[in-house]
Amino acid sequence: MAVEISRRTALGALVVSSLTACRNTGWSEDSSPTTARASTGFSSLNNMKGITLSTWNHGLTANRAGIGVLNGGGTALDAVESGCRAVELDCPDMTVGLASRPDRDGFVTLDAAIMTGEGRAGAVGFVRGVVHPISLARAVMERTPHVLLVGAGAEQFARESGLEVRPECQACDAIGGACLSPAAEREWRDWLLERQYRPRINIENHDTISMLALDKNGRMAAGSTTSGLAYKMHGRVGDSPIIGAGIFVDAPIGGAICTGLGETVLRTLGAHLAVEAMRHGMTPQEACEHAIARIIEKNGNPAEYQVGMLALDFHGRVGAFAVQKGFTYALGESLHDAPSELR
Ligand code: ASP
Repeated sequence: MAVEISRRTALGALVVSSLTACRNTGWSEDSSPTTARASTGFSSLNNMKGITLSTWNHGLTANRAGIGVLNGGGTALDAVESGCRAVELDCPDMTVGLASRPDRDGFVTLDAAIMTGEGRAGAVGFVRGVVHPISLARAVMERTPHVLLVGAGAEQFARESGLEVRPECQACDAIGGACLSPAAEREWRDWLLERQYRPRINIENHDTISMLALDKNGRMAAGSTTSGLAYKMHGRVGDSPIIGAGIFVDAPIGGAICTGLGETVLRTLGAHLAVEAMRHGMTPQEACEHAIARIIEKNGNPAEYQVGMLALDFHGRVGAFAVQKGFTYALGESLHDAPSELR
């Protein structure tokens, strides 16, 4: 694979595109701060009710749901939950929700996390049959003293919380009547012929949905929901439900979210790294580049994996950067190509 370093060119392009994108959303750094948020550095938004920023093409689905919530006066937390739920139900999507590709043993296992700028967080890992893992993550945050529940215990808590958990072999009855969706089962059976695990870059141009939202009152939330890597080992949990790895948000600084090969992000706590970089003065764009550079430094040959990172600060400024080209993201209702280290 020909690999060309394109960081500088890409940075120039993105700064322009981010600024344009911000202008298009109606956000302005010059507008007066709301009184409630003056100390956060939050800038009021002109006609808009908030910002939504999400990974991949299916970020558009998530953002539309989130924008609906924000326009109705809902919070960033509600917007993120609702955006992630919309993608969890998106059946042709085989990377999020019960219709996803399974692990190597044929089980769909799901991870999710949610966090607010005030430092409240909840997450679930390795859950089966849960229709809305993002809502389960929120329930962990709001109804337990814990941050992370996994496996059977998390499923038990889902039932106790009144969330829908489908029994094994009815997990996907809404989409096909078997444990796996027909499309996922076909692909898994093909995969079984070779049984070779290889991370696939930019799979279908959508993957984990990770989302950031900033509401009109200057509250920020982040969320992520995924089936993780296709054909992963049974029991594997990625970066998405690990607070600080897949998502992190901290008022009054900002938030960051990741997608891609989770192990590379886990080794560096990528989202936390980007938020800390913003705390030390970097723009969201610089912070994404800084975190991706660290991920590459720690994980070796960048041609072998993809990581996409998005960041948003309390001014409404956006950053996006990836290891490889092909990482798309949605800002509000517009889709963008993130610049990348390699192309
Ligand atoms: N980061 C996720 C994981 O490693 C996968 C993804 O973003 O597609 O589980």
